[in-house]
Amino acid sequence: MILKIAKYPEPVLSKPGEPVTEFDADLRKLVADMFETMYAEQGVGLAAPQVFVSKRLVVIDLSNNKDPKDKLVLINPEIIFREGRLYEEEGCLSFPEIREKVVRAAKVRIRAQDVCGQWFEMDGEELLSRCFQHEIDHVDGMLFIFRMSTLKRDLNLRKIRKMQRDGEW
Ligand SMILES: [Zn+2]
Repeated sequence: MILKIAKYPEPVLSKPGEPVTEFDADLRKLVADMFETMYAEQGVGLAAPQVFVSKRLVVIDLSNNKDPKDKLVLINPEIIFREGRLYEEEGCLSFPEIREKVVRAAKVRIRAQDVCGQWFEMDGEELLSRCFQHEIDHVDGMLFIFRMSTLKRDLNLRKIRKMQRDGEW
């Protein structure tokens, strides 16, 4: 089932998600729906608050459904190590049409649970590192627009307000 995407400034996007405690059929259904929604929107990552579910849950697939090995589910994820610096352009399904450079760590190690509740660790570099940081920000209620410089943020907020006025947001 394709879920509705929450667009900025929906309040659910700015609220830290609740920890996931039940690893049951409902969770598996939500994960499946989040993958379906992400593929339909051509995204590479999606966090539960972006589909109006205030939980600490993220799905990622850098191959966009071309390689099953790239499907990742991160439940209650956290970054346990970060190193280096990247400054690359990012987009976000909750900010259609907005793309901007943001500063991220070049490498991160994350710790998360899988759909069965098993803890695992994983390293990410380059695009995967940025994706981990962008999506884990979402479950903390942090949005990429607030990682931009003040100047860029204000420019983009003005652009969003204009699109809202024109009925394009
Ligand atoms: Zn996003």
